[in-house]
Amino acid sequence: MSGVCIFCKIIRGEIPSMKIFESEKTYAFLDIGPLSRGHSLIIPKHHGAKLHDIPDDQLSELLAVTKKIALAQGVENYNVLQNNGRIAHQEVDHVHFHLIPKPNETQGLG
Ligand code: 5GP
Ligand code: ZN
Repeated sequence: MSGVCIFCKIIRGEIPSMKIFESEKTYAFLDIGPLSRGHSLIIPKHHGAKLHDIPDDQLSELLAVTKKIALAQGVENYNVLQNNGRIAHQEVDHVHFHLIPKPNETQGLG
């Protein structure tokens, strides 16, 4: 846990979030600035800044939870995205997977 990290604060409940999943090691919630409806973030409870800071068993759980949420949302088209470092557009230094549904164009934006 990090005292200043906003995602650690979300896990501790110090910053409110729209939680969609929680287990012993993993937390998932809706992105505050969604790129589409249902855009979620899947994070380890253990603080680590980048992908290489997270143990393999934790990484596989993160991906399994990402898959579970995609199945629960019933989306057929979606992106899974994970940024590392400022140049790669990482803004929050706590590892997170984005799950970004891509609705059919006939369903409108977001
Ligand atoms: P990054 O650019 O680091 O891969 O993505 C960070 C994501 O975290 C962004 O999509 C941003 O909207 C989201 N975010 C930043 N602060 C908060 C917050 O306080 N609450 C929630 N729910 N999402 C946040
Ligand atoms: Zn953190």
